[in-house]
Amino acid sequence: MSGIDSLEQIANEVRVCNACPLHLGRKNAVPGEGPPNADLMFIGEGPGFHENEQGRPFVGAAGRFLEELLASIHLTREQVFIGNVIKCRPPGNRDPQIDEIQACANFLDRQIRVVNPKVIITLGRFSMARFFPKARISSIHGQAKWVQGRLIVAMYHPAAALHQPSLREVVRKDFSHLPQYILQAKDQSPSQEEPPADPQQLSMF
Ligand code: URA
Repeated sequence: MSGIDSLEQIANEVRVCNACPLHLGRKNAVPGEGPPNADLMFIGEGPGFHENEQGRPFVGAAGRFLEELLASIHLTREQVFIGNVIKCRPPGNRDPQIDEIQACANFLDRQIRVVNPKVIITLGRFSMARFFPKARISSIHGQAKWVQGRLIVAMYHPAAALHQPSLREVVRKDFSHLPQYILQAKDQSPSQEEPPADPQQLSMF
């Protein structure tokens, strides 16, 4: 890659990517979408059935819940960047594998660099592991932490909250803190930065 990177360039590369076997089963790759200057970036796990059909992230039931959560802090999906750790649907919606996550990692890294969001929200354990390889989501959800100069907030995946009604209020409450985290990120430089996460040490695998 040379010159100035862009979300469009990354998306075009994602759509023709054959770096892992998931490309064989895709109907549409799902690069992610949102404004290149979004304050918030949400990173989910990977495309499901509806996302694979439409080539867009979070367009099924979990996406509707995500939109409801965004509305609760007076935002729409058009105002935030929404992406995933992997860009092609795993067969039967199984969990992404480490080689698939690694094959896609460069796309996500580039999207983060281009958007340069104030706050990144990881949705579920696979995107959490990119920043907090050893963390348990039950311990750190909703807390804003500086990692590599960015404010990162791990949250439960909206689909988990749909399956487990007791998590819905937890996720709603975690979301309610996001406006204050954006202000914090705009005001503060990282003071308690944690050591960079080493992708080789994803403890969950
Ligand atoms: N779940 C995800 O993690 N990502 C999507 O895009 C849709 C559902």
